[in-house]
Amino acid sequence: MPRTRIHNVSAAQWSANGDALGAQDLTVQTNQVFGANVFSLSEQRKRLPKHVYAQLRATLARGEELDTSLADMVAQAMKEWALERGATHYTHWFQPLTGLTAEKHDSFYNPAGDGTAIADFSGKELIQGEPDASSFPTGGIRATFEARGYTAWDPTSPAFILENPNGALLCIPTAFASWTGEALDHKIPLLRSMDALSTAALKALRLLGDEEAHRVFTTIGPEQEYFLIDEQYYFERPDLLITGRTLFGAKPPKGHELDDHYFGSIPERILACMLETERELVKLGVPVKTRHNEVAPNQYEIAPVFEGTNVGCDHQMLTMQIMQNVARNYGLVCLLHEKPFAGVNGSGKHNNWSMGTDTGDNLLEPGDTPHENLSFLFFAAAVIEAVDTYQELLRASIASPGQDFRLGANEAPPAIISIFLGAELEEIFGAIAEGKTSPSKPGSFLGLGTPVLPPLPLHSGDRNRTSPFAFTGNKFEFRALGSSMSPAWPNTVLNTIAAEAIDRMAGELEAKMKAGATLEKAILEIVRASYGAHSRIVFNGDGYSEAWHAEAEKRGLANLRSTPDALPWLTEKSTVDLFKKHKVLSKRELESRYDVFTEQYVTKVNIEAETAASIARTLLLPAALRHLAELRAAGVEALVVETEGLVEELVTRIKALEEANAEHPDVEGIEHAVYMRDTLLPAMGAVRETADKLERIVADDLWPLPKYSEMLFIK
Ligand code: ADP
Ligand code: MG
Repeated sequence: MPRTRIHNVSAAQWSANGDALGAQDLTVQTNQVFGANVFSLSEQRKRLPKHVYAQLRATLARGEELDTSLADMVAQAMKEWALERGATHYTHWFQPLTGLTAEKHDSFYNPAGDGTAIADFSGKELIQGEPDASSFPTGGIRATFEARGYTAWDPTSPAFILENPNGALLCIPTAFASWTGEALDHKIPLLRSMDALSTAALKALRLLGDEEAHRVFTTIGPEQEYFLIDEQYYFERPDLLITGRTLFGAKPPKGHELDDHYFGSIPERILACMLETERELVKLGVPVKTRHNEVAPNQYEIAPVFEGTNVGCDHQMLTMQIMQNVARNYGLVCLLHEKPFAGVNGSGKHNNWSMGTDTGDNLLEPGDTPHENLSFLFFAAAVIEAVDTYQELLRASIASPGQDFRLGANEAPPAIISIFLGAELEEIFGAIAEGKTSPSKPGSFLGLGTPVLPPLPLHSGDRNRTSPFAFTGNKFEFRALGSSMSPAWPNTVLNTIAAEAIDRMAGELEAKMKAGATLEKAILEIVRASYGAHSRIVFNGDGYSEAWHAEAEKRGLANLRSTPDALPWLTEKSTVDLFKKHKVLSKRELESRYDVFTEQYVTKVNIEAETAASIARTLLLPAALRHLAELRAAGVEALVVETEGLVEELVTRIKALEEANAEHPDVEGIEHAVYMRDTLLPAMGAVRETADKLERIVADDLWPLPKYSEMLFIK
């Protein structure tokens, strides 16, 4: 190959440019630096007047509205803290519908008029910012209203400092809305969904006899998968650079078949990169915990200890950002795309999810008293009901072009939403649904008609890696999220559908108890009816198998294979009614999301199609022609014919792709997305098919793109 070899970075160099730490140092260091760059509760307590601090705490603990007159004092304290830590600028840090985070930096310093500058930051600037909304996707909302948007301080997610070698930036997590108050971001609906869930769950808890809890939080522990590849290869691949995935590339002779990478020892350069990433995250208060190799070569995973969903989602966005930044210090690029390499396992994000009270109870944790188990059965049944009733919406919440190469493509998890309960729990629910009050099996039910679950061991049952939604002992794990996506939107949907099922079941519980039923009898009846109606969603078998596709169809489960199939569910009547009832999103806000996500699909596929055509015509075809010329010159007739055939095919297919690129039909919205899916993706696939065949026969020194074997096996 004409390319220079990759630079072999030594451990000493890592220490020099990234001052990498040994694992042991990290542990020591961790205690000292955890949250060092966060305007944390303890900083707030130190720096704020008592009554201001107490008010902030109340907002945090119970979702109470914050008295904005306190903002000046908070701003003052925050500014002093940030200046002490070297910050010169601040930004409202928000999450527009691009799925990324956005920042607009402002300096703290204002000219004082006498040639000096004074540091200035008031409550007004803390509470509200005014970025120009017209540069962010707003869907239908922009069309009829002014482009003005504003960011509003979210006091429930702490401010933090992002460090750069040349300065530091105070980041204030904020919500982003149109001036008419419509949500233009992922944070507002998430916060509203957490309120909705809390309201519904508290209603149920009161009926269950809990008088102490005042707030129910949802929790999230996202497990993030990603690839690290050498940056030189990244920069030599316009497809990776522009689209985040390889649009060409023959499968290497060795994939993950040998299973020698999963949980294997972590190469030194990679580990150094992980350690620095984790140290940076720890400073930002992100409680990173596990790291390991994943299934595919050069694929890894990072997971934090779970947190409240709002902060957890903010932390997940920060994690993705820091991972990408730090990788560059090690000559690596972090790929977050769902399917960077065809034929090689893609990357997902497992979304561990539960509900907990402010008094410390995990509502999805089976207990060891009859009462705790009644409560557990109630909430677990509600989740099952929610996922079954709104399976299409849940599927739509994780739809993106990258995901379409994973979901339903014989890879975890399938596009069909189903729930894995584990053998024990399925048996218990099954028995209740059948109305069995006597023990079906010793140990499963004890006592006289009272269901007492055995204390379920954590991670009970088998681990089923193929299920998109699995009960894992004391939480559900929604496994279908894409690696590059913000978890905020899928969690908004999850919280809202759970709120609805809990609310419905709580209503029934109330009615039954008013009519004189005991708590036990009432709950058993409700769970029985609910599980009976929704058990079709429960599936403990192999989610990848063809047999499951047939079985799921028989059960009437939706199989929404692609993004254009799934997105229309965002504006179905059932969705609109649900989000309206729980005040999470209005019809207009849902429509705007539908527009934005559809447009993003069209744009992304369009960029890929144009990139593919350009690479094929300007890089791959010339290489094939040179190779052909060499074969002719050498008179290797047998190979000339074969190569000519492929070159002709490549030319025909490039022309077809270029035509499809140039002549989009006059359609809009979802129809345009369908055109992209049905015309452009296959046209790209055809060009790729021929190009990948050529890659196998063209002289290696002529082939212009780094190959899969290089990208995946150089560590
Ligand atoms: P595995 O890879 O076996 O699924 P991990 O230990 O890697 O398990 O990840 C489990 C994740 O679940 C962690 O991020 C953990 O913090 C999270 N988790 C544990 N309990 C809860 C909970 N109650 N709510 C949300 N997430 C949780
Ligand atoms: Mg997991």
